[in-house]
Amino acid sequence: MALSLSCHATLHLQHQVASRNNSNKNLDNVRSLVNRIGIASVQSSPVESLRNGHWVKLICGASFEDVVDIRNLSLVYTLAGVDCIDCAADASVVSAVNEGIQAARGIVDVRRPWVMISVNDDQDLHFRKAEFDPENCPIDCSRPCEIVCPANAISLQEETMKELSQVAGVSGVLKGGVITERCYGCGRCSPICPYDKINLVTYVRDAATIAKLIKRGNVDALEIHTNGRQTTPFQELWDKLGDSSKYLRLVAVSLPNIGDLTVSTMKTMFSIMQSRLHCLNLWQLDGRPMSGDIGRGATRETIAFAAQLALSNDRPPGFLQLAGGTNFHTVDGLKKERLFQSTSTLKNSINEELSSSLHTLIGGIAYGGYARKIVGRVLSSMQAQNGDASIEDHPEYLLAALVEALTLVGTVKCYDPSLISSAKVNCDP
Ligand code: SF4
Ligand code: SF4
Repeated sequence: MALSLSCHATLHLQHQVASRNNSNKNLDNVRSLVNRIGIASVQSSPVESLRNGHWVKLICGASFEDVVDIRNLSLVYTLAGVDCIDCAADASVVSAVNEGIQAARGIVDVRRPWVMISVNDDQDLHFRKAEFDPENCPIDCSRPCEIVCPANAISLQEETMKELSQVAGVSGVLKGGVITERCYGCGRCSPICPYDKINLVTYVRDAATIAKLIKRGNVDALEIHTNGRQTTPFQELWDKLGDSSKYLRLVAVSLPNIGDLTVSTMKTMFSIMQSRLHCLNLWQLDGRPMSGDIGRGATRETIAFAAQLALSNDRPPGFLQLAGGTNFHTVDGLKKERLFQSTSTLKNSINEELSSSLHTLIGGIAYGGYARKIVGRVLSSMQAQNGDASIEDHPEYLLAALVEALTLVGTVKCYDPSLISSAKVNCDP
């Protein structure tokens, strides 16, 4: 009996040692991949990325607030070399992003990306949450809402009610519903519900809270989402933000294509900001919002938007960056339009030094739903095995997630694809 116990303990110890060795090996593989691609040795700042047309921003989602996923996404994309991480304007979300960045830099000494928070001046698709009462849903509903949700933000469970089934022939009710912190407001669940049970509730972030958050010092950039139809709410928000803009390195304005009015609206917004704009500014060209994960064609609108603005000689200063429908095919689309990293002599900043230098016409690309989807598959698989874990504690998953992120970021940063594909072969968790 004692011999059997001793054998069991030895085997257990051997298993632990093997598992730790494997884990260390995978973490070494992560470091080696980041170093071979050259991310760790690149010291260029996010500003240089904007100037050279290889700026990449990860959009965590203006309404996405799952801090476990946000921390892991931030870690993975920091190692992949993004220039900026855009997140909800919420203190705990900002902390999660900064924690992810710090954890990444504890693995390899990569450059710190800027942290950006997103706010809205009025009702906006990016600032809404789905809501419904599952107890009002027919128990026999096939639940298409659960299937269509790209964020796994709807979870329903059937609860049987013996008393009711005896009295009224009812077999049970649905429980659960929308996981609020995971819902980022894409709106896909609402039209698919056959019983019209889902509402999308919009909200506006409070400007005073945003100003305080900016002044805390762990936010580098602000993005204002506007529908561009009227500039009064934009002016009101900018005024309420007061002197907080002097703590920032970049102010971005995210706007949809409003046709012939786009440039004149941009000029009005620029003139509103100008007297208190002490940093760089950027225009985020929001083609087809929150659709990059849908498919290849989703990226067309933002490329058409970029082509339209690239032709304009009288647009106001500021870098141009694509978003809304961006995915793996966006760079190819830009290349076809001869917009990828092509240079311009237009002013890009109110800052004298920067405005006098040559820079690329398009500063870069922001990736949201598509970036979250490709890494999210690895995160889901890790969570299924290990629960809410920090990805660096499971380096086999970290390596797999990093390869996915590099494949996307590398299209803009021009990483060597052969290094990424050779790493992919060895990273099945
Ligand atoms: S709005 Fe989008 S993210 Fe939110 S629950 Fe519906 S499908 Fe999911
Ligand atoms: S599809 Fe509509 S009715 Fe069916 S479970 Fe979802 S919200 Fe309820």
